Amino acid sequence: MKIGVLALQGDFLEHRRSLSSLGVESAEVRLPAQLDGLDGLIIPGGESTTIGKLMVAYGFVDALKQFAREKAIWGTCAGAILLSQDAGRDQDLLQVMDIHIARNAFGRQVDSFETELPAPFLSPAEPPFHAVFIRAPIITHVYGRARALITLADGRVVAARQGKLLATSFHPELTPDTRFHRFFLELAQSPHAE
Ligand code: GLN
Repeated sequence: MKIGVLALQGDFLEHRRSLSSLGVESAEVRLPAQLDGLDGLIIPGGESTTIGKLMVAYGFVDALKQFAREKAIWGTCAGAILLSQDAGRDQDLLQVMDIHIARNAFGRQVDSFETELPAPFLSPAEPPFHAVFIRAPIITHVYGRARALITLADGRVVAARQGKLLATSFHPELTPDTRFHRFFLELAQSPHAE
């Protein structure tokens, strides 16, 4: 099992640290050829417009669309934006998940916050997951093959899955809790996309 972490911009080191604490081999991906031989890819948090522009500049867009047909991809925060079909403005996206996103959707006063999220699909299912939101997007529309995974009490969706593709508004790599990373490793190991 080898997981790549897209290292164009953002908090890729934190994801590598979470993976290494699970004893999983990881690699920083800066060129499309480095996707070869990976079982999955994490697109970290950061600035989605910057990461999107760099993806285009380095020729990642077609390579990642192809990767997404067979392999697992997890986008956290900016990474989730890049997986979406629509982020409500003109920016470079991969458009591989049937979700729409609103960026910086929690407003200035709560730019960053932390909360406990029930996540019964994690193993173990308790305690709730301590989620860190930093200028986070929300998933405004889940359709087609995508499914909502975590919905806040007010109905806003902050995690979604589509086969082996995973999008989270928050940053599991910024906490010592590795259950989300283990969930992603299970997706990467599963033989089928659905
Ligand atoms: N606000 C950033 C964006 O819109 C995402 C923030 C993050 O990744 N923590 O791209």
